[in-house]
Amino acid sequence: MLSQEMHRLRLGQIFAADVPLGLFQELPLSCFRSSSGLGRLHGEADCAQLRSAPAVHRSEVPLTFAVGELCTHCAWPVPAGHPLVAFAEAVSSLTPLRTGAEFQAGPVAEGAGRADSRDAREGRRRRWRRLQAQLLESHTVAAAYPWLALWVEPMQVSLAGAVDRARRDMALLLDEAVLLDTACAAALPAPALGEGGSALVGPGPSGSWLVQEAWACWQQECATDWGGLEAGRSAASAVVYEAFGSRRRGRTEALDALDLLVDEWNGRARALAAQHAAVPRRSLTVEFPPLVRTHNEEEEDQLTRWEAGVLAVYQVAVHWSAGSIDLLVPGPVADQLLRNSSLAAVAEDHEHPGP
Ligand SMILES: [Zn+2]
Repeated sequence: MLSQEMHRLRLGQIFAADVPLGLFQELPLSCFRSSSGLGRLHGEADCAQLRSAPAVHRSEVPLTFAVGELCTHCAWPVPAGHPLVAFAEAVSSLTPLRTGAEFQAGPVAEGAGRADSRDAREGRRRRWRRLQAQLLESHTVAAAYPWLALWVEPMQVSLAGAVDRARRDMALLLDEAVLLDTACAAALPAPALGEGGSALVGPGPSGSWLVQEAWACWQQECATDWGGLEAGRSAASAVVYEAFGSRRRGRTEALDALDLLVDEWNGRARALAAQHAAVPRRSLTVEFPPLVRTHNEEEEDQLTRWEAGVLAVYQVAVHWSAGSIDLLVPGPVADQLLRNSSLAAVAEDHEHPGP
C-alpha cells in the first residue's frame, strides 16, 4: 500500500464558528464523539477528553455542521495536497487580523528623548512593514478564496488604518531633504581616476585606489540608507581606517584629505538636489515588495532603508488589493528607485506640478 504524507490540522483552533467555509462547507469530516451524543467532536479516538465516555462513535460530519463543536486539542489527519490544507493555512494566516493583538498595540516602545535615533527608525520601519505584509497577505487570501472577502473586509479596514499610522510614525523621523540629497549623491558619476588621489596617500595601496574605494562606500551608504550625506562620510572614513590598519603614521593627514574630498562630493550632491527641489515631481506607482521569511524564520526585507523611507514619506495613495503604492517624488528620487529595481514600477508619468 502506498503511504501518503498526512498533515495533522488542529481544525478546532483554525475554524472558529464565524469563518465562512465556502466550497468546503459540505466536506465530510471524520469525527469521534462520545456515544452519549454530547460533548465535542474529536479528531482522535484516544483524545483525553473522551476518556470518561462510556463508548466512542465515529461518524462523518459535514464541515459546516462540525465547526463550533470541534475539540481544540485534537488534530485531524488530512492528506498532503488536499485543498483543505491550503485553505486552513490561508485562514490561519488571518489570525493576526482577527485578534488584532499586534496592530492595536501602540508603536514599539522607545526610550524617551531618543525618538530620532537609528533604533527608533528601525523599530518603526519593521512594524510598518510587518503590518503591511499582514494586510497584503489578507488580500492574497481573499483573492484565492473569494467567499472570505466580505468577512475579512472590516478587519482589513481596521488594519489599513494601523498601517497608515505606522507609516506616518516612521515618516515623522525622516527628512525629505535628506532623501533627496542622497538620491542625488547616488546619481553622481564617479570621480575620474587620479582625481584627489595625490592628497590621499595610504601606506600600501595608491591614493587613487583609496579615493575610488572611499567614493564607492560613500555612494553606497547614501544610496541605500537614510542617514544622509554625513553617514556617507563615515562610510568613506571607514575605508581609510581599514587601509591603514594598525598603522597610525599618515592616517590623520589621509583622513583630513578625505574630509575635503567628501565636502566636495556632498557639495555636488546638494547642488544637484537644489536644482530638483522646486521642479515638477514625478508620479510613480510601484509594487510593494513582500517581506521574505528566511529558512530560520527571520524576516528579510527586500527594501533598503532608503527605499522604505521614500515609500513612507512620498506615498500619496495605496492600493492594497493590487499591492501597489502611488508616489509623487522629485526626479532624482524616482531615478534612484527605478535604478535599484527591488521595486517593480507599475506606471509612471511626468505631468505633476511641484509641491
Ligand atoms: Zn479531542
